[in-house]
Amino acid sequence: MRLDPLGDFQRTHRNGQLRLEHTGQTVRLLGWCKRVRNLGSLVFLDLRDRWGLVQLVANENEVSPELLARLKAVRSEFVLGAEGVVAEREQKNPQMPTGDIEVRLSGLRILNSAQTPPIPLDDGAEANEDQRLKYRFLDLRRESLQRNLVLRSEVMNIVRNYFRQNDFVEVETPILGKSTPEGARDYLVPSRPHPGQFYALPQSPQLYKQLLQVAGFERYVQICRCFRDEDLRADRQPEFTQVDVEMSFVRPVDIQNMMEPLLVELAALVGKEVRAPFPRLPYRDAMEWYGSDKPDTRCAVRIQDATSVFAGSEFGLFRAAADSQGASRVRALFFAGEAAAAYSRKQLDELGDLAKHLGSGGLPYAKWGKDGLSSSFKKFLDPATEAALRERLGATGEGLAVFAVGSSQQTSKVLGEVRLRLARALGLIDESKFEFLWVVDFPLLDWSEEDQRFVACHHPFTGPHPEDLALLETDPGSCRAQAYDVILNGFELGGGSIRIHDAEIQSRLFKAIGMSPEEARDQFGFLLDALAFGAPPHGGIALGLDRLVMLLVGASNIREVIAFPKTAQARCLMTNAPSPVNPRQLKELGIGIS
Ligand code: ASP
Repeated sequence: MRLDPLGDFQRTHRNGQLRLEHTGQTVRLLGWCKRVRNLGSLVFLDLRDRWGLVQLVANENEVSPELLARLKAVRSEFVLGAEGVVAEREQKNPQMPTGDIEVRLSGLRILNSAQTPPIPLDDGAEANEDQRLKYRFLDLRRESLQRNLVLRSEVMNIVRNYFRQNDFVEVETPILGKSTPEGARDYLVPSRPHPGQFYALPQSPQLYKQLLQVAGFERYVQICRCFRDEDLRADRQPEFTQVDVEMSFVRPVDIQNMMEPLLVELAALVGKEVRAPFPRLPYRDAMEWYGSDKPDTRCAVRIQDATSVFAGSEFGLFRAAADSQGASRVRALFFAGEAAAAYSRKQLDELGDLAKHLGSGGLPYAKWGKDGLSSSFKKFLDPATEAALRERLGATGEGLAVFAVGSSQQTSKVLGEVRLRLARALGLIDESKFEFLWVVDFPLLDWSEEDQRFVACHHPFTGPHPEDLALLETDPGSCRAQAYDVILNGFELGGGSIRIHDAEIQSRLFKAIGMSPEEARDQFGFLLDALAFGAPPHGGIALGLDRLVMLLVGASNIREVIAFPKTAQARCLMTNAPSPVNPRQLKELGIGIS
């Protein structure tokens, strides 16, 4: 097809801008053909640009044969320049912002043709995700993706402005760096001049931002890319963006107070009203009440302890827990109301399967409905135990109780998940609400069965809670950290901590995680040196920008807010990365593939 040159054809208006007030004006427009329709002697064409859609129309009996011929050659996704006069529509379309008008065509340039798109570009239309990712440049023409990326850009602008107003300095840190243990596997980059040696892509700029505090910047921010080679889920990507923050001379509350107004402003951007300060919940309570370190507090139901109710019970499973002196517990969730009481046997079986999948033997239940009590352990529920149980659970009317037996950790895992599943099924989560909260006082160290040593829960630069410092040597597992996460609707938006700024404590921490002084020096000598040269007390946080934008736009998948994301197998289906490389390149790097 012969294409028309753009020449000096420029748009006079953006397509989405045109309104009744433009009636009578001759306009020039640019964009893509969304669709053409022939209706009798009229040809309609919807022209799309980044700002919207407008209807063009030509009457076969009125336009020149040449224009008509061009118009008839146009297919979906052709790139066009159109000229015409704005006119009021006879049949208005209230669904379209430009639905009061149409543009009567007087000229048309075909700037490019297009093959038939292999995926539908309408938001409503279902499309296979692999195909969408393969043809991402087309998929990105969808209105929802355009909207998401525009909002993402807006979020980044707000973030930059906010920190600028608060006197932060944005400093870029290396991408080719040294591995720092953030808890995930590193992406490694071989060095050509140093065969056998590797850079690590940053899991985060953690150490650099701390060193910038030692250097005296006091307030650092960076919107930066981070890389972690870990198993992917719907809300994770191998490379992701963080809003990375570090400040000197701060306490946890100072970091939290700095972040809250920003989060309030970002929520307002999508019409959500939230108020600071956000609630602060110690990690221990989060696990005890919600069975999760990122609780969705839009549902108020909490896990309760019912162990002592079963002290003299005939029910061996529960009594054993009561007799175990705290090693094992009976914990329960009670959902009040008719809908919970009417939960069917089949639905309970499904929940039981979930519990089994999470390592529990099953999911004992008791429900009080129209026909009284029904329970998987009814024969053990004599009236006195039943009454004591109802009292313990605060079960005054109808409702459903589900139970888990085992260690605190096991029961938290099971009931934490069951709580969410039931809350969603019973419609107890108000999806329109934004609930932020801080989970604070995380444990510092966690015992790793695999490595047979303690590992840092956050990262090994996190400051121990000042009251727990002595525990570093005596009982490392119960030492709390000065660490905090910010949670939104059950998602971890970000986390941070006050750091260790004292070289001696840093060395004690390395020792607690099983590092010899030589290993510590070898890996982190530069940090230990820096701490010895007047490091200020400092701390910070990083927010996951992709996840934040995902929640702001209400998407359920992080790929909906990233222009060119990877699949759950960490592959780019559009470019086919990762891909084999030329053997010569490998040779230069001194790498052999076995
Ligand atoms: N670097 C940490 C992370 O990426 C965040 C922080 O402690 O500031 O998880």
